[in-house]
Amino acid sequence: MTYQITTVPVDVLQGFVADIFTAAGCARAEGAQVAQHLLSANLTGHDSHGVIRTPRYVQWMQEGKVRAGQTLTIVTETPTHAIVDGNYGLGQTIGPLAVDFGIAKAKAAGLSVIGLRHSGHVGRIGDWGERAAVEGLISLHFVNVQGGELVAPYGGVDRRFSTNPVCIGVPTQQGPIILDFATSVVAEGKVLVASNGGKPVPFGALIEPDGTLTADPRTLYGEIEGTHVRDSSQGAGALRAFGEHKGSGLAFMCELLAGCLTGGGTSGPIPGGKRGRIANGMLSIYLSPGSFGTTGFEQAARDYANYVKASRPAEQGVEVLIPGEPETRNRAERLAKGIPLQAETWAAICATAQGLGLTPPAVPTPNA
Ligand code: NAD
Repeated sequence: MTYQITTVPVDVLQGFVADIFTAAGCARAEGAQVAQHLLSANLTGHDSHGVIRTPRYVQWMQEGKVRAGQTLTIVTETPTHAIVDGNYGLGQTIGPLAVDFGIAKAKAAGLSVIGLRHSGHVGRIGDWGERAAVEGLISLHFVNVQGGELVAPYGGVDRRFSTNPVCIGVPTQQGPIILDFATSVVAEGKVLVASNGGKPVPFGALIEPDGTLTADPRTLYGEIEGTHVRDSSQGAGALRAFGEHKGSGLAFMCELLAGCLTGGGTSGPIPGGKRGRIANGMLSIYLSPGSFGTTGFEQAARDYANYVKASRPAEQGVEVLIPGEPETRNRAERLAKGIPLQAETWAAICATAQGLGLTPPAVPTPNA
């Protein structure tokens, strides 16, 4: 199968997406920051959390479900921990504020725990692990999507969890090591990409209400022809948790940590069954390695990573990678070559821009 791909230079895409968010109601600096974080997801290869989200975020802004120009409210605070409320601000604004709050506390006290609730979609969680790692901190992040149940638990067919990502970031002198994944077989955004003609999701990533396994995006979105903004309340089925009972258990714990402990709430039940506003909750733990008295943590971590990489490959010529390596390589390649987007994705972003009175930039004709 071939797909129509439009490759957009990074600076063109950054400027265009920043213009869209500015036209939608952000101050110029906030619009640029939202664009920068979305592009960061594309650069690392996670197109599911990149600029493809633009139409949906703008729609949420227009519906008042997410707001420009917000900041954190501190709900409870001690020197080492806090609950903070994102006031339904854009996740690319609220995320950095919450992470920087945790970083400052961990640098002062050796460790910190920050529970964030009521944030707009915080996108690729690896961004937040990287932000802490470049400050020399280990961080662990457990995330849920309040009001956003999409994933069936192990042994079930009904939506009970959101896609609940987990991220662990570790600093080393040669750059951060970042593990960052959804606890569903694939992130919802990967079904979104597939629904736009992009890479198909694996068979069994989705389940129909009668228990039939499938890879069909319509299980999540219903009929999708001709619509630019996908609506997961239109599908009758669910995503599936990865790793059978183990991944399902991790997703469950994300709900307890990011939903119940932060006070933001779990992904379901959704009142009246009608999906409305969704928000991310995130419980983040920051650890300063030096404060534990162990010396040489960063070097020991890197030495061990090299030992793991030196494993003989199971398949001739296929290198053993450590967490974060695919993202680092993608970033280098895409910075040089531009961001490949499905033609449908580019068309949807352009339609959103035109709806705001903007003229899309000229880009090369799509290639098959
Ligand atoms: P994925 O399945 O691509 O897994 C990514 C992780 O696996 C990374 O740590 C990567 O370095 C590692 N990895 C990939 N290939 C590897 C290899 N060959 N060897 C070793 N490690 C390898 O990711 P995903 O589950 O599709 O998640 C995509 C993104 O979606 C993540 O950035 C996640 O944070 C984000 N997400 C966000 C939300 C939200 O609500 N904000 C919800 C779900 C997912």
